[in-house]
Amino acid sequence: MHDTPPSVPDFTQWPSFPFEGDLRVKQLDDPVPIEPPRRGEGSRECTACNAPDEAYIWVGERWRVRAMDRPTGLPMVLILESRSHLDLGDLPNLLAAELGVMTVRLERAIRSLDGVARVHVNRWGDGSAHLHMWFLARPYGRLQLRGTFLSLWDSILPPISEAQWRENLALVAAWLAEFGGRPLAEPPRIQWQAPSSFSPSPSQSAGADEEEAASVIEAAEEIPEPAGPATNDPDAASRTS
Ligand SMILES: [Zn+2]
Repeated sequence: MHDTPPSVPDFTQWPSFPFEGDLRVKQLDDPVPIEPPRRGEGSRECTACNAPDEAYIWVGERWRVRAMDRPTGLPMVLILESRSHLDLGDLPNLLAAELGVMTVRLERAIRSLDGVARVHVNRWGDGSAHLHMWFLARPYGRLQLRGTFLSLWDSILPPISEAQWRENLALVAAWLAEFGGRPLAEPPRIQWQAPSSFSPSPSQSAGADEEEAASVIEAAEEIPEPAGPATNDPDAASRTS
């Protein structure tokens, strides 16, 4: 228990910090002796391994690229996944080398979109054990979005239009397909004429049984689950929420 709460750090005064007003630092929970399994670890299903190719905007032999299930605040948010159930540090040399090539290719594809100044590349890996790299596009001219807090702004800014979002997805998918693989995202106009069996959203069928993330921040941070597996913990009941 803290007698004096830690002071709020200077970055809360930065123009890029999305919040203002009186802030307090949260008290940290006690560290757990054993961390719970991530998705795709232990007995937990792997959303990525279960997802069909149709849930992606582009697929290749060893890599797949998917989008969020709906437009968000940033012009483009994409996830690069290996097909194999491996985490970053487990990649054999071939996949490690390809990860570099794919990262550069995807960065370039996203940066080529209208109105994109920079592409942030992140790997958190706290929610799922299956390698997934995040690519976040920062809108041109939005200097306040520079840096660390871009993933937070994705949930704060109003979502871009669905038509623009689909067009951007199709452009990136087509760009990647220039080098091989199969583009699955199509421009909006074509999609309306597609057969009714066509999935209405590029990633809607991804892991329908798993929590589907609506934004970077929701997906990258494991959303706390209601106390389930932790009920054996004798301290659980006495902890304040
Ligand atoms: Zn997996």
